[in-house]
Amino acid sequence: MTPFSLEGRTALVTGANTGIGQAIAVSLGRAGAHVICAGRRSCAETVGQIASGEEMLLDFTDPMAAREVFAGREIDILVNNAGIIRRDDSVDFSEADWDDVMDVNLKALFFTCQSFAKAVLARQGSAAIVNIASLLSFQGGIRVPSYTASKHGVAGLTKLLANEWAAKGINVNAIAPGYIETNNTEALRNDPERSRQILERIPAGRWGAPSDIGEAAVFLSSPAARYIHGTVLNVDGGWLAR
Ligand code: NDP
Repeated sequence: MTPFSLEGRTALVTGANTGIGQAIAVSLGRAGAHVICAGRRSCAETVGQIASGEEMLLDFTDPMAAREVFAGREIDILVNNAGIIRRDDSVDFSEADWDDVMDVNLKALFFTCQSFAKAVLARQGSAAIVNIASLLSFQGGIRVPSYTASKHGVAGLTKLLANEWAAKGINVNAIAPGYIETNNTEALRNDPERSRQILERIPAGRWGAPSDIGEAAVFLSSPAARYIHGTVLNVDGGWLAR
């Protein structure tokens, strides 16, 4: 077995029905993990692409639901991928759009990590958490105030949780994807001017594929990353290097 193998490990990916979450689930499956594909909607399409997988219908904004899942199963790898975005000028931004984004991107992520860690610590196991951050964990962006605040929060929480849990056998890291081809970015890709501006700024000269994030998630959840704690890994074609 190579240090990148996930044979014998069970992983849970949130928001695994589509986009980056789907690609992460497929990559973890290819690396040998049994993958629980979790989402508010059916993840059957994702499960169909994995040798050993199952789906789980769950809304991660309900902390009790996550607690029950981890208390009842031995899960070694948690990927917090579920995330939403709302766009409006900050001067008009609504409280509902603030709360919705914070509830999913930050609050649900924290309490899912907490429930997972409680279960891992109780069985004195070893485990990995990979949180999905963003370029907007480092930059301001525009017209996405709750998203930017939440993703800065994801980077901060990743470091805090790594500090608390590294010595207890849990690796906590994050991935900051750049511009990735998913439904989320379809409008941007369909806008020729915006799309051109974005491409011009990406040193690698292309948008990211969801599998680029999937493969980084395999690395961070594998034994090869055993001494990596609290890192936010940019997978952005060099965007932040520019
Ligand atoms: P998508 O919109 O394609 O997918 C988001 C996923 O999150 C969906 O599966 C969605 O489920 C799920 N989700 C949202 N709310 C909940 C909830 N309450 N409970 C369970 N699942 C939920 O987005 P992407 O694949 O593009 O993004 C995935 C992650 O990557 C997000 O965290 C995003 O912020 C981040 N990211 C994406 C980038 C990109 O360029 N695409 C760049 C940087 C970061 P449902 O289908 O039911 O809504």
